[in-house]
Amino acid sequence: MCALLILQNRIGRVVLYSIDTVKAKKLIKNKIIMRPVTSPDYLSCRISKEVEEQFNNSGDFFYQAIENADGVPYQLVFGPGIGEGYYLNVGYGIKQLFGVAPVEFTEDLFQRMIEEVIPLTEDISRDPVESRQKIIDGKIQKYKAEILVTTPSGEKKWIRDTSITLIDDKTGKATGLMGIFFDISEHKQTLLQLEKAMEKATESDRLKTAFLNNLPHEIRTPLNAIVGFSTLLGEPGQNMDNRLEFRDIITHSSDHLLEIVDDVVEISKIEAKIVRFIKKEVNINQMLQRVYDRFKPAADEKNILLRYDAPFDENGIIIITDGYKLFQSLNNLLSNAVKFTQEGKVEFGYSLKGDKVEFYVSDTGIGISVEHQPNIFKPFYQVESSSTQRTEGTGLGLSIAKAYVELLRGEIWFNSEPGEGSVFCFNIPDTRQVND
Ligand code: ADP
Repeated sequence: MCALLILQNRIGRVVLYSIDTVKAKKLIKNKIIMRPVTSPDYLSCRISKEVEEQFNNSGDFFYQAIENADGVPYQLVFGPGIGEGYYLNVGYGIKQLFGVAPVEFTEDLFQRMIEEVIPLTEDISRDPVESRQKIIDGKIQKYKAEILVTTPSGEKKWIRDTSITLIDDKTGKATGLMGIFFDISEHKQTLLQLEKAMEKATESDRLKTAFLNNLPHEIRTPLNAIVGFSTLLGEPGQNMDNRLEFRDIITHSSDHLLEIVDDVVEISKIEAKIVRFIKKEVNINQMLQRVYDRFKPAADEKNILLRYDAPFDENGIIIITDGYKLFQSLNNLLSNAVKFTQEGKVEFGYSLKGDKVEFYVSDTGIGISVEHQPNIFKPFYQVESSSTQRTEGTGLGLSIAKAYVELLRGEIWFNSEPGEGSVFCFNIPDTRQVND
C-alpha cells in the first residue's frame, strides 16, 4: 500500500507525491501534508526510482489532468478584502470559460461577474461575502457551489466552483483557496428544460384529471335532456309547438353528446400519435359553404350575422389536403366564434398568401384576456371567470384544431381583445395542382 499526496511546493504549484503509508501518517502527524489521498491497492510501491521521480514534481501533469477533464484549476491568494486577492496558476481553460486570459483574471473581476450563488452544502451562503468570512473564520474548509456569472462579453454561464481552503501552517490562518471551475451551463440548460417539461406535464395532467372528474356531468347533462324530452315527446296532449321545441332540444343535446365523444376519441388518437394524414382533392369554397350551413341556424338563433368570404368564382380552388381535418379545424374555430359571441357578427374566409392558403375566423364576441391567451391551445383548458359563465364545451376544440393544422403542415395563431372580439387564423400549404 502507498499513498498519493497532494502538496503545494515553494512556488505555489501543486505537486503529487507517492510515498508509503507509514511515511504519509508521519507527515500528517507533523502537519506537513495538506491532504492525503489513499491509493488503491493496485498502485503498489514497487515502482522504479525514475517513475517515482516523475511522480514527484508531477504538479504540471496534475493540472493538465484537471484541464483534460474540462475543469479550470486555480489558486487564489487572499488579499486584505474580498476582491483584493490574486490568482495563481489559473488553467488555460479560463479563456474559453470566461473569455479572459489567465493573467487578466483577477479576483475583483470574478466577484463582479457573479450573479447568483446556489450553495451545494449547508454551511455555504448565497452571499459570496458571507461565505468568504466563514472561510476566513475556518467555518468552511470545503467550498462547493453553482454560480451564475455574466462574462465580460455579456454571456451568461453556470459554473460549479469547488475549492479547499489553504491554511498557513505557522499561523493556522486561511491564506487562500485551491479549486476548480467547471462549466455546467449545458447541464443547467438541460435541467431547466426538464423542469419546464415536468411543469407542462403536471399542468396537462391536472387539466386532464379535472376534465375526467367532470366528464360524468358533461355526459349526463345532454343525456338527461335526451331521455327527459323523448319521454315528454311521447306523452299524449302535447301540442305541436311543444313537440317541435322538444325535438330541437333532443337534436341539440345529441349533437353535443356526439361532440364530446368525438373530441375525447380524437384527442386520445392525437396523444397516441395515431392520427393519419389522408390526402384528397378539396374544393375550399364548397367546404366554406358546408361550414356556413352548419352554423347558420345557431347564428340566427342568437341573432348574430354569419357571413363568409370566398374568393375566386363559384368553383373556388381545389387543393390536395386532408379534407376532414381541414373541415374540423374550421368547424372548431367557428363553433367557438358563435358560442362566445352574443351580438354582432362572425365572419370567415380564406386568401392566398405566397405559397400558403390562409384561413380566418373573426368574431365580435367576449374576447380572451391576456392572462388566458397563452393557455387556450392546451388540451382541456377552459376559461372560467365570474363574468363569463361556463359554456358548453370540452376544452379540446382548439387543441384538436392546432394538432390538425400542424398535421396539415400549417400554423395557427390568434389576436384577441377582451370585450371586442377575436380573430383566429391558420395557414396550410397551397397544394393546387396546375392543370394544362
Ligand atoms: P371549448 O370546448 O371550451 O370551446 P376550446 O379548446 O375550443 O374549448 O377553447 C378553449 C377556451 O378558449 C374556451 O373555453 C374559451 O374560453 C376560449 N376561446 C376559444 N375561442 C374563443 C373565442 N372565439 N372567443 C372567446 N373565447 C374563446
